Amino acid sequence: MQNYQDALSHPIFEYIGEAAENLNLETYVIGGFVRDYFLKRGKPKDVDIVAVGSGIALAEEVAKLLPHQPKVQVFKTYGTAMLRAFDMEVEFVGARKESYSENSRKPFVEAGSLQDDQNRRDFTINALALQLNKENFGKLLDPFHGLDHLQQKLLKTPLDPDITYSDDPLRMLRAIRFATQLNFKIETESLDAITRNHKRIKIISKERIVDELHKILLAEKPSVGFALLNKTKLLPFILPELSALKGIDEKEGQRHKDNFWHTLEVVDNIAQNTDNLWLRWAALLHDIGKAPTKRFHKKIGWTFHGHEFVGAKMVFKLFKRLKMPLNEKMKYVQKLVLMSSRPIAISEENVTDSAVRRLIFDAGNYIEDLMTLCEADITTKNPKRYKKYHNNFKIVRKKIKEVEERDHVRNFQPPISGDEIMKTFGLKPSREIGIIKSAIKEAILEGEIPNEYEAAKKFMLEKGQKMGLTTVA
Ligand code: ATP
Ligand code: MG
Repeated sequence: MQNYQDALSHPIFEYIGEAAENLNLETYVIGGFVRDYFLKRGKPKDVDIVAVGSGIALAEEVAKLLPHQPKVQVFKTYGTAMLRAFDMEVEFVGARKESYSENSRKPFVEAGSLQDDQNRRDFTINALALQLNKENFGKLLDPFHGLDHLQQKLLKTPLDPDITYSDDPLRMLRAIRFATQLNFKIETESLDAITRNHKRIKIISKERIVDELHKILLAEKPSVGFALLNKTKLLPFILPELSALKGIDEKEGQRHKDNFWHTLEVVDNIAQNTDNLWLRWAALLHDIGKAPTKRFHKKIGWTFHGHEFVGAKMVFKLFKRLKMPLNEKMKYVQKLVLMSSRPIAISEENVTDSAVRRLIFDAGNYIEDLMTLCEADITTKNPKRYKKYHNNFKIVRKKIKEVEERDHVRNFQPPISGDEIMKTFGLKPSREIGIIKSAIKEAILEGEIPNEYEAAKKFMLEKGQKMGLTTVA
């Protein structure tokens, strides 16, 4: 029998072992911590402990022994407890047996053995347990050959996959998420069972679904997850906007690209350049307006007119449906979707200063992220074009830097206030003020005048005169 004391060198396990002795409880560390130890996945953030008996009592004993005597959070209904120690969340649970009903992922729970507890785990690689009691410290309990499956990079359920996924359909998403994060394969029987049970996803809360989507998006190659969601038929139940992008239409010999697979490439590309979750969301959603705006014209072929505008509106609906925050994160994603074609339009022409000024003005602080998105959007397989497009964006980026250094329009504040306009011409609040203000802004963006007070003031006086206004002394 192999011993894995090495895995337990962290001081927390000494305390837990001692507490287990004091209470005479069979105790194990189980799940993610053990899996990630074998995968050498770096520092753990959370640790799951199972006691054959009361997990809550064990947590309280551990807290007593720890020098900082942490507070124990008890979740009575679940029979679990949590405490923080050494920058980690340590979760305690009593070994349990679970049985499920049709309409809920909340099981009926009763006390059980370690084996019962391992049976209820989602994957064999998540059922690995290391014993913490003194006489067996570091002993591995691996009834389902999880260690082999780790080596084979295989996700497999401990029990019948149909039952496992139907009992708690969240596991379908966890399977796909782990496959994406760990670059593992989902065993064929499991994949088939997920496909058969895909409709069961309906009973899972939006928040849980979004949690898994975030984790998929934050993986190194998020496309793996979205391709699996597609393959298992889960996608239309979760992100129908993306499913709608699938397929290539052909009319009169004219075809458009498959915008679903294109989107996945864009997401993988952007994942190479940013860990910003919301920028990755923007990449995922940047083309969703293409499904409802797709048209065919005899002369010009396929078009998606206004898809950015429609897409930005769809972002709001999608966030709302998935109960995602409707705050500045959503607005950020919306804005990037809305502006996702702007740098491309610019780079196709001779890049003028005024076009760049307008781009910076409209994008504000999102300008860099917008450029990152547009660069990720280049998925052409033609090496010549690939190089050309990237070069064009390099030119745009350079120009952005130059123009911004000179003109400072990124967080544009009008150099002349409405108040000053009113005083100058002796006006009450009125339409004229708005007209003059926006004329000044336009003149600056067009490069007719610099973004400075004196120039703007002179321009204001001239503009007022043309409008028939007179200055008051
Ligand atoms: P990570 O923390 O990296 O997301 P993890 O495997 O630790 O991965 P947690 O959600 O922290 O995932 O869960 C801890 C353990 O609890 C898992 O390893 C698994 O054994 C079990 N588990 C979690 N969720 C489920 C579930 N829905 N069904 C069955 N077992 C689960
Ligand atoms: Mg965990």
